[in-house]
Amino acid sequence: MPKKLNRYCSHCKKKTEQKVKQQSTGRPSTMKRGSKVRAMLRGLNRGIGNQGRFSRMKNQAKGNRKTTKKTAIVYTCTVCKKGKDQKKGKRTSKLVLE
Ligand SMILES: [Zn+2]
Repeated sequence: MPKKLNRYCSHCKKKTEQKVKQQSTGRPSTMKRGSKVRAMLRGLNRGIGNQGRFSRMKNQAKGNRKTTKKTAIVYTCTVCKKGKDQKKGKRTSKLVLE
């Protein structure tokens, strides 16, 4: 995929040159649903052992099942410097910006 594209900008209301950038995933939250910290605060997963539910290895295996991920691209207009997210991601194993 090219680093710069000519796309329609809804703020300038015309076609402008726009930068292509992949969104970063960030860190997972510790207080989200399915996290061990949250379960402990709610009175679950107390005592010794995993209790067959909160294993980290189990979650890792779940994440590695799919070989491709949907792309998350941000287009930034070089004129007004406003960004816009990609409408619909496509499945790829690797996104290369050249
Ligand atoms: Zn613009």
